[in-house]
Parts: sequence; structure tokens; C-alpha cells
Amino acid sequence: MDFELSEDHKLMKRGVKDIASQYGVDYWQEVHETGRQPTEIFDDLAKGGWFGAPLPVEYGGQGLNLLDTVIVLEALCDEHCWETTFRFTMSTVFGGISLVENGTVEQKERYIPEIAEDGAVWALGMTEPDAGLNSARISTFAEKDGDEFVINGRKQWISGMEFADHLLLIARTTPYDEVDNRFDGLTMFIVDPNDPAIEYSEIPLDMYYTEPTYDLFIEDLHVHEDQVLGEVGNGLYQVFGMLNVERVTAAISGWGAGKEALDRGVQYAKDREVWSEPIGAHQAIQHPLAEAHTKIESARTQLRKAAWKYDNGAEDVGETANIAKYLAAQAGWEAAEASMSVHGGMSASQEMGIAACWGVARHQRTGPVSEEMILNHIGQHVLGLPRSYGN
Ligand SMILES: Cc1cc2nc3c(=O)[nH]c(=O)nc-3n(C[C@H](O)[C@H](O)[C@H](O)COP(=O)(O)OP(=O)(O)OC[C@H]3O[C@@H](n4cnc5c(N)ncnc54)[C@H](O)[C@@H]3O)c2cc1C
Repeated sequence: MDFELSEDHKLMKRGVKDIASQYGVDYWQEVHETGRQPTEIFDDLAKGGWFGAPLPVEYGGQGLNLLDTVIVLEALCDEHCWETTFRFTMSTVFGGISLVENGTVEQKERYIPEIAEDGAVWALGMTEPDAGLNSARISTFAEKDGDEFVINGRKQWISGMEFADHLLLIARTTPYDEVDNRFDGLTMFIVDPNDPAIEYSEIPLDMYYTEPTYDLFIEDLHVHEDQVLGEVGNGLYQVFGMLNVERVTAAISGWGAGKEALDRGVQYAKDREVWSEPIGAHQAIQHPLAEAHTKIESARTQLRKAAWKYDNGAEDVGETANIAKYLAAQAGWEAAEASMSVHGGMSASQEMGIAACWGVARHQRTGPVSEEMILNHIGQHVLGLPRSYGN
């Protein structure tokens, strides 16, 4: 097994770093303070074709595999640009990978080039107030009416709606009580987020997040049947298909937030002197940073392993992707936590940017899939233990 990066990987890293290195700590600080979108780096990444990294060449993508893509996302994190990874998951995975796996030729031709070449933004409309992690319980309903569907319902926590070019909306097309298997009867729709039948309002957050997130109220939204992505009634299985990729790219967001906090914590521990030596000379400061580094690096290996398994069609890719998500989120959180201690009182100041990393890293333990649900999956499906919860 070869753990060296190939020459191609090194070239990719250099290509991304050339862009990302123009957007350092001061740039991100200004983005945090003003609460604006980092549009400049999104535009540059789009021009460089990086939102199309794992998308097919015939539709304008770079045709890279998931391992290559992980290397690209790691390179963004190495250059302080971890926040761009959220947009990557939205556009490239929710949009691009869903289209690659389920789209018709017409849909691929229409939608993939604008992601790959222009960084078109996709939002995912899955979560609902009364369903939470139990996706089978969503109640937003799409009623067939001639060659259209008429959709009514409510969604919650839908990131990026305001900037999205497209919304991938998941709705029931058969009521829960009428399906044999609870995962049956859901369908994916490609929807115009600006359709007047969708009202949305931003959810005020008590913590920093790059992508603002929204409540959606959908009333009599008419969607042509051509806008179904994949098969009617099979939507949740298709979403599950995309989730192995999403597990990995979303894991990198929490991992990257923690790694950023760690890098800044190490620098602070070298610079800050309140006794006769830098605080990093004290083991109580040094050891948590060193421990965080070991866990960040172990998680990096697990993320690459999950990507490799996906690329090689391994049967246990689901297990490995879940483990990667779990370990990366934990490692990110522990690194951010260590950095909070190192920064002492300064960790509370917006100027340091540590609390933002800390909050995001904590939250990436819960979303898009929570640690508890990952452990449920491993307990039941990997270890063969009884299912520990209801339907
Ligand atoms: C900032 C932000 C952005 C988001 N963006 C999007 C988006 O773009 N699109 C989208 O569709 N969704 C989005 N979400 C939703 C996100 O994916 C969900 O919040 C997440 O999946 C958790 O669901 P929930 O909050 O409803 O938790 P719940 O389902 O209410 O669960 C609450 C807690 O109970 C635990 N729990 C629940 N069931 C079990 C069980 N059986 N066993 C053990 N523990 C259990 C969970 O792990 C969790 O810790 C976003 C959320 C946030 C906060």
C-alpha cells in the first residue's frame, strides 16, 4: 500500500494552493466580521474548475476520483480556506454527484457544466421540523397532477437558499402509511429556489456559520415531471447513494475547522509569553495540541481510506465512510477545544476567529449525520447488534 502522494496529487495541491493562498486569515476575518459571503474565492475556485473536480470530463468536469478530491479539499484547509468545503459539498455533491448518479442525459447536459465551470450553487431540501434524522418520516408531499407534481410542505435548516441556483427537494410521493418499506415512496425534484410558491426566511443563528440556513414554506409548487431526478418513489435510496461521498466531504468541513484552530493555537502557544517562556513550553498547553495533531492526522488517513474504498467500489465503503465522518468530526472538535484553552480569554474575541472554528467543529459532530446515528449504524449493520430504536 502506497501512502505517498502521486505527482498528480502534488500538482493538484499546488493548483488549489495557488488560489487559496491569496485568501489568508485577514480575508476570512473580514468575511466573519461582516457576515458576507466569500464570493471572491468561490469565483476563483469556479474559474479554476475546482467545483468540477470529481465531475465527468464530458460535462466540463475534471474527471478526478474521490481520493483526488479529498486531497484538493485538504489543500484548501491547509491554506485557511476550510469554509469553502461547505459550498463544495452543496454544489459538487448535492448537485453534481446526484446528477452523475441519477440524472438523465438531458439533465446532465443542462446542469453539470454550470456547476463544473461556473460553480452553480445547489441547496439540499431534506430536513423537516418533525422528521429530523428520521428522513423516512418527512411529510412534504408531491401530488401527481397530469404531467406535473404539486408540492406542499415545510423544510427546515436548508443552507444557502438565498444564493442557490437550484434546490434539490426531497418529497413523499406515496404516503408513509401506504408503503411496504419505510424508505420507499420518496422522490427527488430539481426545483427553482426562486419560485414564488416557496417562501423562505433565514434562521437566526447563535453561532457562526459560513452558509446561512433557512426555513422553507412550500405551497402549491408546480414542478414538471421532467424535473424529477432519478426514479419516482426511489429518491431516498438515491440520496443514500450520494451520502457516502457527502459523509467524506462534509467530514472535511469539521476536520478543517478544527485543523485551522489547531494551526492557530500552535502559533499562539509559540508567541504568547506571560511567564519567562512562551506558554507552549508548558506541557499542559503542549500535550493537548500534540494529541490533537495525532488525531487530526489519523482522521486524515481514514478520510483518504474512505475515498479510496469509494473509488474502488469496495463493499464496505459505507462502514468506512461513516467511521471517517465520526473520527474526523471528533478530531476537529478536540483540536478546536484544545485551541480554545490555549487562547485563554482571547478565544472569546472575534479577532482570533477561534470561537467560529470551535462552534462549527462542534456542530459537524451532529450534521449532516450525527455521531449517534453513525454508532447506531455500526452497532446494527457492522457488529450485528439488535436495532436500538424504533421507526
Ligand atoms: C447549520 C445547519 C445547516 C444545515 N443544512 C442543511 C441543509 O442544507 N439541508 C438539509 O436538508 N438539512 C440541513 N441541516 C439539518 C441537519 O442535517 C440536521 O440538523 C441534522 O441532520 C440533525 O437533525 P435534527 O436536528 O432534526 O436532529 P434530531 O433528529 O431531532 O435529533 C436530535 C438529537 O437526538 C439524536 N438522535 C435522534 N435519533 C436518535 C436515535 N435513534 N438514536 C440515538 N440518537 C438519536 C441525534 O443524533 C441528535 O443528537 C442543517 C443543520 C444545521 C444546524
